[in-house]
Amino acid sequence: MALRLYNTMSSRIEEFRPLHGVEVRMYACGPTVYDYGHIGNFRTFVAVDLLRRFLRQSGYTVRHVMNITDVDDKIIRNAARNGVSVQQYTAKYEKAFLEDGAMIGIEQPTLVRATEHIPEMADFVAKLVERGIAYRTEDGSYYFRIAKFPQYGKLSKKDFSGMLDGARVDVDEYDKDSARDFALWKAPKPGEASWETPIGAGRPGWHLECSVMSMEELGETFDLHAGGEDLIFPHHENEIAQSESFTGKPFAHFWFHARFLLVEGEKMSKSLGNFFTLRDLVLKGHKPSSIRYLLASVPYRNQLNFTFDGLKQAAVSVERLRNFRLRLTAGSFPGGSTPAMQSLAAQTVDGVRSALEDDLNTAQAQASIFEMVRQANAAFDTGAIKKDDVPPLLGALTKFDQIFAVLDDDDAPKMQQVMDWAIAEGREKDISAELRDALQSGQLSDADIEKRIAEMKAARVARDFSASDRIRAELAAAGIIVEITKDGIRWRRK
Ligand code: AMP
Ligand code: ZN
Repeated sequence: MALRLYNTMSSRIEEFRPLHGVEVRMYACGPTVYDYGHIGNFRTFVAVDLLRRFLRQSGYTVRHVMNITDVDDKIIRNAARNGVSVQQYTAKYEKAFLEDGAMIGIEQPTLVRATEHIPEMADFVAKLVERGIAYRTEDGSYYFRIAKFPQYGKLSKKDFSGMLDGARVDVDEYDKDSARDFALWKAPKPGEASWETPIGAGRPGWHLECSVMSMEELGETFDLHAGGEDLIFPHHENEIAQSESFTGKPFAHFWFHARFLLVEGEKMSKSLGNFFTLRDLVLKGHKPSSIRYLLASVPYRNQLNFTFDGLKQAAVSVERLRNFRLRLTAGSFPGGSTPAMQSLAAQTVDGVRSALEDDLNTAQAQASIFEMVRQANAAFDTGAIKKDDVPPLLGALTKFDQIFAVLDDDDAPKMQQVMDWAIAEGREKDISAELRDALQSGQLSDADIEKRIAEMKAARVARDFSASDRIRAELAAAGIIVEITKDGIRWRRK
């Protein structure tokens, strides 16, 4: 079987085949770096990361590009309010975004920044003007004339037949149901950041950025374009209008949209007090791995209702998987193999794979691995796991983790980083007792480690190698690397 994905353009599930052999070219709309990313943003970014990882596991090479919107209305407003330049303002949040992505296991795409592609964008506008698709207004702004693109609405399936030709909008986001000519380029208002270009002074509109940078990096037609569901209209509709009227070719083959995340059943909003950045959750004492696991647990096209109970449950699930792996790596088993365990491992590999091939059904993939853990744990207790069963069971776990990426226990140093950041930002009051406790209990002191190493040495003297291996695995899980050399046992922190 091959990967089947829902395509917003066709409103159907289709088989995914890249246009260029084994290379997949995909573009995901990235963040507007005016604040810390919230868990809704990361729901979408994790969904794209799962897709990227699964494509790679399926044998494709992936060219994954993401934009950083580092100039827009909000950024300009906030930078001015804080008395800093746009660059100074966005640098802080871009750095935070990348740190947060790494914290929840997102593999970093190739990043493209709007402010580094201004001449190409101005050039693109100039060409649209030449073809009569864009026009200049008195203040020096440029607009896209949507009447020139009869297919406008084909992605969002909105009917714009009664639209007003020439009605304009200059904000980056606008009323969801009205079609208006949208700003490609905005002339500067007094005091605003702007760039001098052959089409005049100004800055690009948000939609233009993505069209120009995606085609520059990936070609005029590429495989897949991703984002959250709110981007279908107007952002992606406008990207299509700009790009296709420019090239006369289809822009992206697949349109991949992640459904929105709700918190405790409600739309996340600052006024409701249910708005959380990733860092807010870590400050409350939650592990990055639990957050990633929870965000990955609901297939991307289903609404994800984020709850604190769900987050606790996710932590238990991750712990269970980690303990299972420890049991396999640290245990000692009799020689031989048990056919039932061999086939369980093989079935699980197939089960996870076919779940993901089914429009990334992550819930089903997780169910599959847990069924393996359940059955294998039962087999442990009856001694039915033999030495040769360990590699296939571990192999199934590893394959699962190539996508879900929660098995390695590196939560403590990441949580420590968030705590250090909160202190540096003067936000000590936001550090919960739970986070302090988690860090204290999670970190072994040198004395604790020396004690465990002494136990390891004693076990080895007694030729109880499985006990020695068990201690070594426990230390590894706590981030301590142990090396056994002919001169003795050495350790260091990861
Ligand atoms: P922004 O920084 O607002 O442009 O958003 C970055 C990405 O996060 C976009 O792909 C949005 O569609 C997505 N996004 C924003 N809010 C949510 C949410 N509540 N749930 C899922 N995705 C979201
Ligand atoms: Zn975009």
